[in-house]
Amino acid sequence: MLLEAQAQQVYDTDSTLDAGSPRDLSGEGRLDSALALQWSRVRARLQDEIGEVEYRNWLRQAALHGLDGDEITVMMPTRFLRDWVNKEYGALLTSLWQSENPAVRRVDIRTRPAGGSTAVPNLAEPSAVPGKSTQPTRRDAEDRSETAAPLDPRFTFDTFVVGKPNEFAYACARRVADGHASPGFNPLFLYGGVGLGKTHLMHAIAWELSQRADEVTVAYMSAEKFMHRFVSALRRQSTIEFKNELRSVDVLMVDDLQFLIGKDGTQEEFFHTFNALVDSGKQIIVSADKSPSDLSGIEDRLRTRLGCGMVADVHATTYELRLAILEAKAARAGVPVPGRVMEFLAQKITANVRELEGALNRLIAHAHLFDRPVTLEAANEVLHDLLRAYDRKITIEEIQKQVADHYNIRISEMSSVRRARNIARPRQVAMYLAKQLTSRSLPEIGRKFGNRDHTTVMHAVAKVTELIAADADFAQDVDLLKRILTV
Ligand code: ADP
Ligand code: MG
Repeated sequence: MLLEAQAQQVYDTDSTLDAGSPRDLSGEGRLDSALALQWSRVRARLQDEIGEVEYRNWLRQAALHGLDGDEITVMMPTRFLRDWVNKEYGALLTSLWQSENPAVRRVDIRTRPAGGSTAVPNLAEPSAVPGKSTQPTRRDAEDRSETAAPLDPRFTFDTFVVGKPNEFAYACARRVADGHASPGFNPLFLYGGVGLGKTHLMHAIAWELSQRADEVTVAYMSAEKFMHRFVSALRRQSTIEFKNELRSVDVLMVDDLQFLIGKDGTQEEFFHTFNALVDSGKQIIVSADKSPSDLSGIEDRLRTRLGCGMVADVHATTYELRLAILEAKAARAGVPVPGRVMEFLAQKITANVRELEGALNRLIAHAHLFDRPVTLEAANEVLHDLLRAYDRKITIEEIQKQVADHYNIRISEMSSVRRARNIARPRQVAMYLAKQLTSRSLPEIGRKFGNRDHTTVMHAVAKVTELIAADADFAQDVDLLKRILTV
């Protein structure tokens, strides 16, 4: 536990991946640990890609079995889940694996034999310490939580490319990591959209601090992990220990704070921890997808305190930054990538750095696999699915029309107030598809459906997800619509 820890760095105390371990690994442990790390990244990206709800519904029980030749085997607990995951997420899982590990060509999804265990631990879970084959205990199983990411050895300041959109956030992070930050930097609040480098910067600070000569204790965790640990401390009636542990660190980092929206008890606990640490001169670093003032659903007093230190925005990338990131990554991979290809990618793949990186990794993997140079033609071919998604943006209007046609109702019913089942259900399906197939937010979708509230859209998404799971005919219907809309 944290109080006993000699290590300079403690994060996610249940599932501590020793800070040095990615480098210390040797012999047989190496493959397992590397694979486990890749698997935890694949899962994190999967969650990002498909959203938390779907991930929880379908994929949280997926377990990595191992890598055999070029084939990754993933285990599901039931045949139903196996078939579903295969059909719905097989392709995505394969491409995520390919971009993580160039050796992978196929992903085989199987059912777990009764009583069987997985060969490779899920890194992000408490029982998983790479290189050690720990037998999960009952309590470990209860405490399982998915999202606490261990520090990623690739997320250092060295590998972070600085440009206009992130230079301020970078400078702040550097300052805090150097240990010379004034109280004005406490807390450091990093915010910005998905995949723009917030987690990278936080890990970089943690690495830097852990390499300093003086002993600094750093605790890094996602807000979700914070909540799970708090809740499990409550259950075990060990909140005092939990509090003491957290309050004994020198630097506390909590990633993706927006997760605490609506979780009042955890927010309260975080607020007290926050105050205790700041009052005793300890550093807090927090990230979120919005600025403190825009984080509605966070209690006012906490929001005020969050905004008291340094608030740094990580902006969307520019073409120049995207190009610089690609150049840096290609150079590190040691694969020659022609300038034209990088320019092409930087121009096309604009959403975020994660996607850009994934595209480059896929290209490199492809080149390795077939022993061919990276060319513009290859980029077009290998990335056609991704590029098509950029070329073609599905609109909510298209979805409404298609769904109305399919269920034989008038398109105006999409915005009407009628609640009869034969109208309301198609409307819910259309909302669900709008959430799935467009990047519109819940409130934006609500507005397009006769100015409905975002909670109505949320309810529709949950309802349709539930029906898809329960009713095969309905699932097929929705799947068909989805396919029609995405060709
Ligand atoms: P966020 O936490 O903001 O969602 P991440 O920090 O997870 O985003 O970044 C997503 C991916 O993009 C990571 O692999 C990260 O290394 C990479 N990345 C983001 N910004 C940069 C940058 N400026 N330079 C290099 N890599 C970056
Ligand atoms: Mg992040």
